[in-house]
Amino acid sequence: MLTRLTIAATSALLLVLASAAAADDATVAVTSHPEGAKIYVNGYFKARTPATVVIGSATEVEQPYTFTLHLPGFKKWEAPVSLATGQSKSLYATLERLPSALTGRTICIDPGHPSETSAGTSGPNGVSENHINWLIALKLKENLQSVGANVVMTKQSEGEYVTNRRRAEIANAANADLMIRLHCDAANARGYAVYAPDRTGTVSGVSGPSSTVISASTGMMGAFYEGMKSVLAGTLSGRGTHGDSATYVGSRQGALTGSIFSQVPTLTVEMCVLTNAQDEAFINSASGQAKMVEALRAGLEYAFGGR
Ligand SMILES: [Zn+2]
Repeated sequence: MLTRLTIAATSALLLVLASAAAADDATVAVTSHPEGAKIYVNGYFKARTPATVVIGSATEVEQPYTFTLHLPGFKKWEAPVSLATGQSKSLYATLERLPSALTGRTICIDPGHPSETSAGTSGPNGVSENHINWLIALKLKENLQSVGANVVMTKQSEGEYVTNRRRAEIANAANADLMIRLHCDAANARGYAVYAPDRTGTVSGVSGPSSTVISASTGMMGAFYEGMKSVLAGTLSGRGTHGDSATYVGSRQGALTGSIFSQVPTLTVEMCVLTNAQDEAFINSASGQAKMVEALRAGLEYAFGGR
C-alpha cells in the first residue's frame, strides 16, 4: 500500500497511512485436522496451523496465492486463494494420512539400560536416561502399532536389567526388520545422533555383525537421519550419522555389543545430550517427547522408503 504514496507525503501523513494500511491487509485464517501443519504461501513458510496469515500490502491486485500445508505422515495439501485488499478468508484442510511403510514390519525397540554397561546417564536437573528411554519407547511402540507394525520390546518394565547381548537375541528371535536402540548421550554438545555398525567387532570371543547386517544398517542410517531431521529441524540440532567404531565401546570392540550379536539391521539413536540442561528440558517435556516420537517415526518411514 505504501508504494502508492507519493513522495510529496509528509512523514506525519506517512505515519497515519501506514497504520491505516494494516486494516487493508488481506488475511487468511488457516486451520487443519490434524493441527500443527506447516503453512507455506507461494513456497514461503508462514506459520503452523491453526494460524491467521497476514498477506499484507501486496494484495492491491487480486491474484491467486498458493497455500500449501505440510505435516509429516500426511499428503501435501494445496489450494489457490485469490485475495483482494483488505479481504479476509478462511481455509480448512482435512489432511489425508499417507500409507505407512511400516505396516506389517517388525520393529524391535530397545530402550537402553540398565545393562552390564551402565544404569544410564542423568541430566543436570536429575532427569534419568533410563526413564526417558523407557517413556519414549512406550510412546513409539503405540505410534508404530497404530499403523500396523509388529513391535517387539527388549524390556518389559522400566527397571528390568537386560544385557546388551540378550537385547540383540530378542531382536534376532523376532526376525526384526530393524532393531532401534534408544539412548540419551552424555557429552559436551547438544542434539541427536545416529549410529550403525560400520565394521565387525569382537566381544567375549564372538565376532559380528555380518557384512550383510553392516551394509543393511549403514544403508538405512542416512535415510533414518533425514527423517528425524525433517521433524526436528529448528527444534533440536543434529550431530550427524556415525559408525559404532566412533563410540567409546565401539572403539575398543570394533562395534557395540548389541550390534556384534545382532543378526538384523540395527541403529542406535542418541536422542539428545541429556547432560546438557537445554536438551534435558526438551526431552523431559511432554511436547519434546511427542516431537521425538514423531521424529523417530519419520526416521523409520524414511528408512523403509515410505517418504
Ligand atoms: Zn545410554
